[in-house]
Amino acid sequence: MATYNPKSSKASEFINHEEILETLSFGKENSHNRDLIIEILNKAKKAKGLSHREAFILLSCKEDDLNEEIYKLANEIKHKFYANRIVLFAPLYLSNYCINGCSYCPYHGQNKTIPRKKLSQEEIRAQVIALQDLGHKRLALEAGEDPIHNPIEYILESIDTIYNIKHKNGSIRRVNVNIAATSVENYRKLHEAEIGTYILFQETYNKENYEALHKFGPKSNYEYHTEAMDRAFEGGIDDLGLGVLYGLDSYEYEFIGQLMHAEHLEARFNVGPHTISVPRIKPADDINPDDFDNSISDDIFAKIVACLRIAVPYTGMIVSTRESQAMRERLLELGISQVSGGSKTSVGGYTEKETKGSDQFELSDHRSLDEVVDWLISLGHLPSFCTACYRMGRTGEAFMDLVKKEGIGNICQPNALTTLKEYAIDYASDKTRKNAEALILKELSNIPNEKVRELTKENLEKIGQGQRDLYI
Ligand code: SAM
Repeated sequence: MATYNPKSSKASEFINHEEILETLSFGKENSHNRDLIIEILNKAKKAKGLSHREAFILLSCKEDDLNEEIYKLANEIKHKFYANRIVLFAPLYLSNYCINGCSYCPYHGQNKTIPRKKLSQEEIRAQVIALQDLGHKRLALEAGEDPIHNPIEYILESIDTIYNIKHKNGSIRRVNVNIAATSVENYRKLHEAEIGTYILFQETYNKENYEALHKFGPKSNYEYHTEAMDRAFEGGIDDLGLGVLYGLDSYEYEFIGQLMHAEHLEARFNVGPHTISVPRIKPADDINPDDFDNSISDDIFAKIVACLRIAVPYTGMIVSTRESQAMRERLLELGISQVSGGSKTSVGGYTEKETKGSDQFELSDHRSLDEVVDWLISLGHLPSFCTACYRMGRTGEAFMDLVKKEGIGNICQPNALTTLKEYAIDYASDKTRKNAEALILKELSNIPNEKVRELTKENLEKIGQGQRDLYI
């Protein structure tokens, strides 16, 4: 029997089933243990993170007043590390050809009803120009797994195309990539293509269930999939994005597994996850979410987000347009630091009208990017299109050190202001522009360091005079 070892390179040891089962029963036994919960909360207040066991005790807590403290602390930690800035991005679907058998995903190889489509480089240009015209600077590339239609060369060529499109004042400055688990050699190529974060959702950490949900295709290999982040790191990528698809297995199992994965990355590479995404399963073509009977309520989901924020204080936390405006509003108060806006989840969706079944899954937030930006401002958040960190070499350990030591407020805040100013001038509606300008003025005076404040003021003036892409 494998034993838990976060430093191991073997999936069965760093995501250890027995340790998860023991943690599950430990959490359930202690859900009313006030002394223990208070002790963990006190440790959590130091904002240095929690182990998977400690975090699971908080998730299991059934004491109402202590749950309120958990939510409050999640909000405080988010502000301590990331202040009020929220990063914006959009997904770009390149191809829905796929040979895998993910039974929850409409791209699965046996789906005969979904129209298959792969963008040509010319079509990618059209998508990217449309995205630039919305104001986006940061994309997450999405593709099915298919060595004939979407080989790594296609992904690399697409990244190169995207980075080289300069249309009006637009540019895509950070391309994150969400493609299936691959080899060290391919990860090295992605690294050389200057991707931002490599994102790969585990879907479920429960091996038995994973194998039942992925019956064929390369993704059916649990070990290969679970050890992918280790290979990505070996290939030179040190900004890694984790996620599970909530609804496939019990949320408790996934929550513990996800934190073990984060612990593993820290233990083995000294770099925890750059981001954690929290997707929940949605209805889609040829998929019935009722077939997956682990759906979670909004309240449990909110608690998961809060406990993840407390357990991994430095990580970026992402919520997509799978969630409704109301749910996103709630989660923003509990630790989310990145949201997508104006998203289309069909191949070609930014230039063509989406038809039923062409999108990957149903969205719950259909607002335009402009509406999302204005909404964030109205809620007291600072929308940011910043992509500076990885362009300044602040990735992996360097990024983590910075966030852990002092938070990234002094860097993030100025860059958020300058990118919001670009957005306000180039893309915003009159209403959003007015609100953005007022927010920029207010936030500028809040930058604590005088030199940084002055520099930001100068940069904002230069942007007003027509310069672009100024960052620190
Ligand atoms: N093909 C790549 C892979 O297998 O990892 C990644 C791209 S896939 C387009 C991105 C993610 O969409 C998957 O990892 C999965 O978690 C999510 N997804 C698939 N079906 C979904 C559904 N019905 N509802 C919500 N999210 C879904």
